[in-house]
Amino acid sequence: MHAIQVSQYGGPEVLDYVQMPDPQPGPGQVLIKIGAAGVNYVDVYHRMGRYPQPLPFTPGLEGAGIVEATGSNVGDFKPGQRVAWAQVLGSYAEYVLAPSDRLVPIPDGLEDQIATALLLQGMTAHMLAKDVFPIQPGQTILIHAAAGGVGSLLTQVAKMFGARVLGTTSTEAKAEKARQAGADEVILYSHMDFESEVKRLTDGKGVHVVYDSVGATTFEKSLKCLRKRGMLVLFGSASGPAPMLDPNSLAGMGSLFLTRPSLSHYTAEREELLRRAGEVFQWAIHGQLNVHIHKIYPLGDAPQAHSDLEDRITSGKLLLVP
Ligand code: NDP
Repeated sequence: MHAIQVSQYGGPEVLDYVQMPDPQPGPGQVLIKIGAAGVNYVDVYHRMGRYPQPLPFTPGLEGAGIVEATGSNVGDFKPGQRVAWAQVLGSYAEYVLAPSDRLVPIPDGLEDQIATALLLQGMTAHMLAKDVFPIQPGQTILIHAAAGGVGSLLTQVAKMFGARVLGTTSTEAKAEKARQAGADEVILYSHMDFESEVKRLTDGKGVHVVYDSVGATTFEKSLKCLRKRGMLVLFGSASGPAPMLDPNSLAGMGSLFLTRPSLSHYTAEREELLRRAGEVFQWAIHGQLNVHIHKIYPLGDAPQAHSDLEDRITSGKLLLVP
């Protein structure tokens, strides 16, 4: 089969398009012919070695496809079935071996590519808005990178839950995408001071929660955008890791809460994975959640997809098709 392989950490150029032996399923494993793989920012961290993986490895955690064969002890899945996944390393390939307990059936009425585009980022938005900081109607919230993959889905979910959404984006074109997703106000944080804008838009009070996936360049000001007893949800580091923080300083800033969630801990139990994925898929089927596919790349163009994501020219989902 063809696959992308990383043999040394580095820039997009280390994503080699190679020929590999076809995998065979072992006990508890399912062999899937991949229809499309999702590109996520975490793939960049893996490629760079910021979250190191043993070398060589095939990147990509997310995809959808058709069950080709199953190993022993796999009762739930049959050849021909449509499935999706969000946490199986090795998805930038023609085939992947997945542990059966990480697979989610794709419901009727949902296209494979939409399922791929939605699963990881949609479950992240679901986790953030429902469980990490459960959004209440009337709350004012700040979402950084609001036109991004997670950002545009989280904006829609937050509006569904009745929040007033302030979003940040780097360009006016992205601001328009964030508004289409439902953002009430968009701040161009590359051109203006987002902290003073947030204060102005909230009559000096600040927001109930900041969802910050940008990290290094936003973290300190994000804390200053919160109202008393507000929560900073740091869930990524697209601009680099957030700086160190003295936990005692949270008292002086208004008895703030700080959390750093990972989707893996919010989908660790199979029941929770199925419930979260199922709800996201139903939102999509009923038109409550729309995923914008930015671009579909041939698998061999994975380096270009990574460059586009890191160069901040994308909004929405990037897919790789073998
Ligand atoms: P996005 O589509 O959101 O792309 C990243 C965006 O971050 C860019 O488009 C850009 O938007 C913004 N950004 C700000 N500064 C930089 C910078 N220096 N370099 C690159 N981008 C920058 O990606 P995803 O939706 O895949 O992921 C968004 C974030 O969510 C990532 O940090 C990811 O790690 C995190 N995440 C965390 C999960 C978890 O379990 N904790 C699960 C899934 C995602 P703009 O140009 O508007 O500034």
